[in-house]
Amino acid sequence: MTALLEVEDLRVSYGKIEAVKGISFTVDTGEVVTLIGTNGAGKTTTLRTISGLLKPTAGQIRFGGKPLRRYRPDQIVALGLAHSPEGRHIFPSMTIEDNLRLGAYLRNDRAGIEADIRKAYDLFPILGERRRQAAGTLSGGEQQMLAMGRALMSQPRLLMLDEPSMGLSPIMMQKIMSTIAELKAQGTTILLVEQNAQAALSLADQGHVMETGNVVLSGSGSNLLHDESVRKAYLGED
Ligand code: ATP
Repeated sequence: MTALLEVEDLRVSYGKIEAVKGISFTVDTGEVVTLIGTNGAGKTTTLRTISGLLKPTAGQIRFGGKPLRRYRPDQIVALGLAHSPEGRHIFPSMTIEDNLRLGAYLRNDRAGIEADIRKAYDLFPILGERRRQAAGTLSGGEQQMLAMGRALMSQPRLLMLDEPSMGLSPIMMQKIMSTIAELKAQGTTILLVEQNAQAALSLADQGHVMETGNVVLSGSGSNLLHDESVRKAYLGED
């Protein structure tokens, strides 16, 4: 069986600077795969290239067997790939509910959209309680919930989350991570970029460690969690 997402020898440059230097990995349906690594390793660049926001200089990205090279970002969303970006990018003056509806802009099944809005409120009750308020009034963690809820509104076959725990309090971070675990239990396929290696590897089926544009180590989440070099470099152990 072919993987849902296949990234093969991917290279991406910003002008003369090569940020991603020939990486390969796959994501199977139902899996959570994480990319971990320090600042500037190329994780965000990888997600933005999969979404069609950046063009690769070499390599292949296939989704559901289709090469993505010729697709625009909106067409990639329509194929079933949703991206909750680093920094969230919610629309602060729009209501929470209208932000969620934007995630469904390519759909026209009204009843399905309403059902999915209710599902988002089940997953994140605070969003339902405040649905008529401007999204800018939410805390950072609540805005992260909204960004995830909005990405889910496109009914993705693969959900990409870029640094969902960034800048959050430990309690809020735990809440976001347990929601990702809940989505995984529901069968959602997730590609997760995280600086918090401990949290990401604890829930991932597969992990890849990125350093300066390369994947330097790959393995199951639990193997990487117990790998000595990972523990030293990313989990702050001597
Ligand atoms: P972070 O966690 O800090 O976002 P990252 O692993 O996601 O790190 P990227 O944001 O993908 O890393 O950055 C990879 C490299 O590309 C870095 O050296 C970064 O400075 C560079 N880079 C990123 N965006 C641009 C840009 N728009 N123009 C030029 N260089 C860039």
